[in-house]
Amino acid sequence: MRTAAHFGCSLTETMERLCQAESGLTVVYKQHVSAVEMTGQKITAVLARDVITGVRYRYQGTCFVDATGDAWLAHLSGAKYRIGREARHQHEEAFAPETADLLTMSGCITNSVFLDTGAPVEWQAPDWVPRLPAGRAFGRNIERIGPSWWTEAPNDFDDIYDAELSRDELFRVMLAYFHYLKNLWEEKERAASYVFGRMPYFDAKRESRRMVGDYILTQSDCVEGRRFEDVIAHSGWPIDLHHPRGIYSGHEGPFFSNSHVPLVSIPYRCLYSVNIENLFASGRNLSVSHVALGTTRLQSTIAAVGQAVGTAAAMCVQRGMLPRALGQEHITDLQQRLLRDDAFLFDLENQDPTDLARTAEVCASSVAHDEVWWPNLGIPGELLPLDRSRATFLARGVEEEIPALYLLLTNHTAEPLPVTIHVRLQADPDGFTTEEDTAVATATVAPGEHWTCFPMSIKTSLRYLWVWLEETPGLSWRVQKFPPLDWTRSERQTSAVKFRNIRWESHCIALVEPDIRPANCSTQNVINGYSRIRDHERYAWVSASEEGLPQWLELDWRQKHTVSTIHLTFDSDMNNPALPIQVPALPETLVTAYTIEGFDGENWHTLAEVSGNYLRKRVHRFASQTLAKVRITIHGSGNGKTARLFEVRAYS
Ligand SMILES: Cc1cc2nc3c(=O)[nH]c(=O)nc-3n(C[C@H](O)[C@H](O)[C@H](O)COP(=O)(O)OP(=O)(O)OC[C@H]3O[C@@H](n4cnc5c(N)ncnc54)[C@H](O)[C@@H]3O)c2cc1C
Repeated sequence: MRTAAHFGCSLTETMERLCQAESGLTVVYKQHVSAVEMTGQKITAVLARDVITGVRYRYQGTCFVDATGDAWLAHLSGAKYRIGREARHQHEEAFAPETADLLTMSGCITNSVFLDTGAPVEWQAPDWVPRLPAGRAFGRNIERIGPSWWTEAPNDFDDIYDAELSRDELFRVMLAYFHYLKNLWEEKERAASYVFGRMPYFDAKRESRRMVGDYILTQSDCVEGRRFEDVIAHSGWPIDLHHPRGIYSGHEGPFFSNSHVPLVSIPYRCLYSVNIENLFASGRNLSVSHVALGTTRLQSTIAAVGQAVGTAAAMCVQRGMLPRALGQEHITDLQQRLLRDDAFLFDLENQDPTDLARTAEVCASSVAHDEVWWPNLGIPGELLPLDRSRATFLARGVEEEIPALYLLLTNHTAEPLPVTIHVRLQADPDGFTTEEDTAVATATVAPGEHWTCFPMSIKTSLRYLWVWLEETPGLSWRVQKFPPLDWTRSERQTSAVKFRNIRWESHCIALVEPDIRPANCSTQNVINGYSRIRDHERYAWVSASEEGLPQWLELDWRQKHTVSTIHLTFDSDMNNPALPIQVPALPETLVTAYTIEGFDGENWHTLAEVSGNYLRKRVHRFASQTLAKVRITIHGSGNGKTARLFEVRAYS
């Protein structure tokens, strides 16, 4: 997004420009692949037709990547694929239905627009539009008058061969929802002045064919966070399977499953066909079960998979190999190449033997000693007194056991204070509306601020839980800024009124005891093999904030090396759990201006000078120099006070 803003153009145009800048890449538009030529179990060419002129094109190659979403190349070449939901027993998947079926997740056309005219307007949907159940029977908690991601059709349509029917059904659903808001909703007066503005004209598909690879990723791989030796990408979105009845699912909520997962690893073996020897898969047609698709189908995950597939395909071509053999013989090369290109591979560290930085001694002008590692807990905000009821809303897994909750509470008195929390389960996002307590727990807060443990034994059966505290004089509950996705907070003055939802903030709450420790900000971090924060030890070089800027960091080889490329990885605050939703214009942690200098034994030479940086990873190439030292001087950063650097690499 920042890139689009930087170029001053749309995201699509940005992509076009990035593709143009990539040597060896040719992009063709408006061509539909409709046939393949084969020799044995290998594709030798694909045939495509220009959808406007009808002209036919033939593309020969040694490796092919199916990124059509619908796995057309797999279908045309005879590669094995699946469609629909596997039966529960096939992969022991609790989230799968008892018996297999052909249901796929429906799309939706969320970019529709409802316009507020400012004056009452009557509107009735035509007869061919279905009617949704009136009032609360509809089963959705509506805050904002506008389309939602759950304005979906039931999954009865074939998105591949009946895409137009499927799209038409989405039109009917959207109009049905607007009719509901205008005529059937309990709060319909809020929608009285709205008119239907416009509706996009396409069938956005969530799911169709999935190619079968040497490995099929399944539910247990995801929920158990199974690690694979041939990992090439990760996923972290919940297992987000939408309800098969779409907008008609009523009180069952919009999800079939939306379970929290730990970091999911995607093995290389999911990326190529089990039976067509030179066919890769990328995107949503990856080798995963329907349940696992719930997490892998997200854009940032398939972008990471796309990087891995593209890199693997290029290596296959360069080395004259096929995808399976590359994985069996050169997986480490592939992983190291991905790390060098800034892919996120959690367990793997830089072991690139050609990286000269790994052999250097590193020193810096200053090192911070007061930074605290606050793992995945967002950023602590203000203290809010419990002078009223306060609540916080958490997205979690379904069927999860929660033995305790930890709340960051402050007791302003000199005596210990007892406090009671109420825990409630909820199917629907956004709602502080359930009336029934699932658990009630009491703890005593000692004077001062503490993470207070509330032991309980809850087995969750719904995706969301919310926790509220009664008015308790003398106590405060700290706000958490930038909480994880879907977490919000709420408050109410008296029990007679509804909780008021406050977005983009929660209160400080944790499911395991927070492990907050001093962070190691030493210079060694820039060559520790990790280009992001792993834990309080494997952190970043951070300069002392009281010293201000500029600050420098130096690599010293004690002997001369030929150097022509320097890689720098800055801290763009990717650990911030709120980043997917709230992208700051400029992260406070990011370096914005710097110089790179090289020392040839007698003099320092400027190798690069940068201002206005907005990127996490920068690669500087220059004419080869024989150097004993390299120095990076940071002149500017998002907060104007500290320099932060994750990794430095140097190549001859
Ligand atoms: C309504 C909706 C909302 C979503 N919301 C989110 C969200 O908020 N966040 C998120 O991360 N993900 C979201 N997703 C999921 C995510 O967007 C998709 O999983 C992802 O875009 C799939 O990308 P893909 O490239 O694999 O497939 P597609 O996006 O389907 O792209 C496939 C491409 O291949 C082309 N193609 C197909 N057949 C052929 C052929 N025979 N020849 C040539 N070209 C062909 C198509 O035209 C298309 O351009 C959403 C999905 C939907 C449908």
